[in-house]
Amino acid sequence: MRKQIAAANWKMNKTLEDGKTLLGEILGAVSSVPNGQEVIFAVPFPYLYPLQSLVQDKANMFLSAQNCHHKTSGAYTGEVAVDMLDSIGIKHCVVGHSERREYFAESNAVLADKVNLCLGKEITPIFCCGEPLDIREAGTQNQYVELQLQESLFHLDAAALQKVVIAYEPIWAIGTGKTASSAQAQEMHAHLRSVLAGKYGTEIAAEISILYGGSVKGANAVELFSQPDVDGGLVGGASLVAQEFVQIIQALK
Ligand code: PEP
Repeated sequence: MRKQIAAANWKMNKTLEDGKTLLGEILGAVSSVPNGQEVIFAVPFPYLYPLQSLVQDKANMFLSAQNCHHKTSGAYTGEVAVDMLDSIGIKHCVVGHSERREYFAESNAVLADKVNLCLGKEITPIFCCGEPLDIREAGTQNQYVELQLQESLFHLDAAALQKVVIAYEPIWAIGTGKTASSAQAQEMHAHLRSVLAGKYGTEIAAEISILYGGSVKGANAVELFSQPDVDGGLVGGASLVAQEFVQIIQALK
């Protein structure tokens, strides 16, 4: 079902104590969100288990992993398997963040494997896509992002696709303070929904949550989220500041 989602991506920030304080402040201000909305906190791996108890009684609020490995288990020192996430009750995992694609050379094919493993354990992949600045300047962003979807998601059948959340994150807007305009965001989200409709039909496409990510803040969230095809946001920097993220949650439709 299509939901409006505010997802925090803490990346490699905060100590456990600082993380507890941040989460506590946010949950103190927003104790629950209605059905049809979700709030997700993608925290560093070591914090998933210790922070779990803070959200487990909160309606429609979840912790998420920021990544997982693309193999089930084995000699992959330092990696975390989907089964491990499942074993501690994690129900969401960010897949294909642009920082993973860039710094860890994650290909569309590897990301397809991660999506499959997540879905195999009923873990919702929050699948990230988005173009770098040179592609945006060349005006070929639609084809670029479409290919990311085709190569990582289009092997799924309709029932599986409906369990995926997509996050469109133009790389030139991530951590730069340079937000896509609401018109740019809406244009790409509508394009992605039409690409999904072309493959799976309009009814299925209408059920997929497509989040926008890239310098979302308390001050621009209402405008971005008010766009018809923008179903909330994946938020980095502003999710580390309680007041900002609370404002972002309150901006959900
Ligand atoms: C992100 O990390 O996914 C992100 C969108 O970061 P920021 O909000 O800081 O641009």
